[in-house]
Amino acid sequence: MTPTHHPSDALLISYASGSLGAGMSMVVASHLTLCPDCRGRVATAEAMGGALLDSLAADELAPDALERMMARLDEPAPPPRPRPPARRDGLVLPTPLLDVTGPITDGSWRRLAPGIRQIEVVPRDRRGGSVRLFRIAPGSVMPHHGHRGIELTLVLSGSYTDELGTFDRGDFAETDGDTHHQPVADAGAECVCLIATEAPLRFRDLIPRLMQPFFGI
Ligand SMILES: [Zn+2]
Repeated sequence: MTPTHHPSDALLISYASGSLGAGMSMVVASHLTLCPDCRGRVATAEAMGGALLDSLAADELAPDALERMMARLDEPAPPPRPRPPARRDGLVLPTPLLDVTGPITDGSWRRLAPGIRQIEVVPRDRRGGSVRLFRIAPGSVMPHHGHRGIELTLVLSGSYTDELGTFDRGDFAETDGDTHHQPVADAGAECVCLIATEAPLRFRDLIPRLMQPFFGI
């Protein structure tokens, strides 16, 4: 199944340029294992990043370079490089996640609330950022957790629905502190999802940082 919800261009560019925090970067990388389209967009962004650095080095950067770079992200993606996810504990979990957690067994999960179990993948940092893997029984409402900053959600099994739509395996949701939503695991199967939160400053500084070379700010 091809995912229908994807990371924004800004997020993919910051991933490709290495300016995302480790936790968020891992969640994006996990989506990429399930999404040929976004793998192609990242490959394009990486290629353009190299060209951009060459241009900057040559001091010949055109004023509309960022605009053209963003437009090129909408061009057809190059052929995907398949990278099959690993299968553990009856779940098919992405390799970038397993690289951090190691093998996941039934004993890895901690009960958070009735119908909800979690694994703390990256413990909460000083600024409130964390990455957690949730396992949510059908019909259960996901916990609300520190929605002060950017939140990335990747569905790995089952599905959930909220005000933004229905999210299936591989689908990606990117929300910020202004988004109010109440995800509910859909009936039929348990929903497993990976959720990264990060304090707002780090991400919101990103666009100005990207723009900096173009505007001399
Ligand atoms: Zn995608």
